[in-house]
Amino acid sequence: VKHGGRGKACFFDAEMDEATRARRLIESELRHAITRHQIHLSYQPILDAHSGVISGYEALMRWNRPGHGICEPDVFIPIAEESGSIVQLGEWVLQQACSEAARWPHPLTIAVNVSPVQFMLPNLAERIETILEETRLAPDRLEIEITEAALFRDRDRVMTTLQRLRSLGVHIVMDDFGTGYSSLSNLRTFPFDKIKVDRSFTGMLEHDAAARSIVRAIIGLGHSLGMPVVTEGVETETQRRIVVEEGCAQVQGFLLGKPDIEPSIKFAARRNFLS
Ligand code: C2E
Ligand code: CA
Ligand code: CA
Ligand code: CA
Repeated sequence: VKHGGRGKACFFDAEMDEATRARRLIESELRHAITRHQIHLSYQPILDAHSGVISGYEALMRWNRPGHGICEPDVFIPIAEESGSIVQLGEWVLQQACSEAARWPHPLTIAVNVSPVQFMLPNLAERIETILEETRLAPDRLEIEITEAALFRDRDRVMTTLQRLRSLGVHIVMDDFGTGYSSLSNLRTFPFDKIKVDRSFTGMLEHDAAARSIVRAIIGLGHSLGMPVVTEGVETETQRRIVVEEGCAQVQGFLLGKPDIEPSIKFAARRNFLS
């Protein structure tokens, strides 16, 4: 029996259909996910690297998909971005995260991920301003996390939005730095306040000298531009020690706290790294 290309092609087509169907299903389910109360936020602590005190939390979206359990954002966010429902989801996340954070003790901050698709909206800054007013969250307690992918769409629009947010007092974080299209000029051109080192580097720190050099270079770059650097994905004590030695300002990762629906129970938690 010959394993002809034709049979393979048919099998492949069937698989494609399957994947397309699964995608369409997610797409249509996502449109109702908010009204059906299937979306919630998890909060992961971000700590001061030296004192170990929690300085704030990052809001991470979760989808409790009927029949599937908790669905990972890496699975559904790309689909939501393609179908456009990320706009509605992202708005909900901002609203929810800000109203939650407004009840937290001062000066805890809240970091919210904003999709490149949301940055194409002409009125994103105004929407965020309204949400801040409605929730009465002080603008300087909100951090907007943006990836470089957003900067490559309509640079002028993104620049205008970021400048407006900046003038409100909102902080802008360059997320996942070191991956994808990382360009040093973006850091200088756009009004960023902080750099977040991608966790792929953190994972390699212990065994890969090059990873450590990259992290050192990013931290040095941050210093020279007046931007503190936060390292995400810190899973081991050795990784934490290395990034603190390299001058990182803040740390985030499973070692220090996993994303949790109830951040308030951790408010009292302090880790003393110096002891
Ligand atoms: P991200 O913004 O880079 O978020 C950090 C991701 O790393 C989170 O995954 C977090 O759970 C995970 N993480 C944190 N510490 C560790 C660690 O020590 N080890 C490992 N292995 N992972 C760690 P999550 O929650 O699955 O989110 C994945 C991505 O989905 C996020 O990456 C972000 O790009 C996106 N995302 C999540 N929530 C939202 C949202 O509300 N809006 C938008 N636009 N994107 C979101
Ligand atoms: Ca992030
Ligand atoms: Ca990140
Ligand atoms: Ca990421």
